[in-house]
Amino acid sequence: MTRHIGWYSDGIASAIACKYLLREEPEALIVKCDTGSEDEDNARFRAECARWFNREILILKNPEFEDNYAVWTKRRYMSGIAGAPCTMEQKVTPRLAFQQPGDVHVFGYTWDKLDVARFEAFQKNYPDLIARAPLIEREITKANCLAMMQDTGIEPPRTYAMGFPNANCLQTGCVKATSPDYWALFRKVFPDRFAKTAALARELNVRLVIMDRETLPDGRVHNIRGFIDDIPADWPTLNPVAPACDFLCHINGQDLAA
Ligand code: SF4
Repeated sequence: MTRHIGWYSDGIASAIACKYLLREEPEALIVKCDTGSEDEDNARFRAECARWFNREILILKNPEFEDNYAVWTKRRYMSGIAGAPCTMEQKVTPRLAFQQPGDVHVFGYTWDKLDVARFEAFQKNYPDLIARAPLIEREITKANCLAMMQDTGIEPPRTYAMGFPNANCLQTGCVKATSPDYWALFRKVFPDRFAKTAALARELNVRLVIMDRETLPDGRVHNIRGFIDDIPADWPTLNPVAPACDFLCHINGQDLAA
């Protein structure tokens, strides 16, 4: 029998996508890769979603790593041209171990331009996987998902109300985020967590944030990078962009030359 797998991430879009999947395929498996680095309120949201799905959410965990810090410390690498090792070790590796030939993989990519492009990139990178994005099929955007979640009465993970664009890894901050606004907001809301990630970034000499951009004499644009604790204390927190965390970390490289 074909297995349908809904990849649930504690985010609103993946929850809505899983609900659509279960309507079509009541025997579908709902699966989450655990990074050990999620904000504690995600567990509450996950439990409410499981009740809404009327289905257990299976948790996949790489036993080698307790959380993101364990990955970054062991690999001596946080994020850069080779992508983010936390995604590879805690999402890609468990997925590869779990999946079987013929599985249908269902994701929460939305009908927003960047998400559509990421889903296309995913399909190009994993041509052997059967992948579906029910929200794109139905032209449902992130904003639509938020409204739909409100209708369910399930309160989204608290980090949305704090201003974060998603609920990913807010025990550590997401190392794929290059936005100073994101890190300034993380520092404001979670100063202790910020301090721990900032200290490790200094130790590993990783400049995660793009502080500015300059145009070189040959016309190329050069990113001026900084450590997250280089961000001035009064930096605004209005546009805290953090990319989605999917199975594309190895093609999501960043120029983090220290
Ligand atoms: S959300 Fe960010 S920090 Fe978390 S696993 Fe993905 S890349 Fe790493």
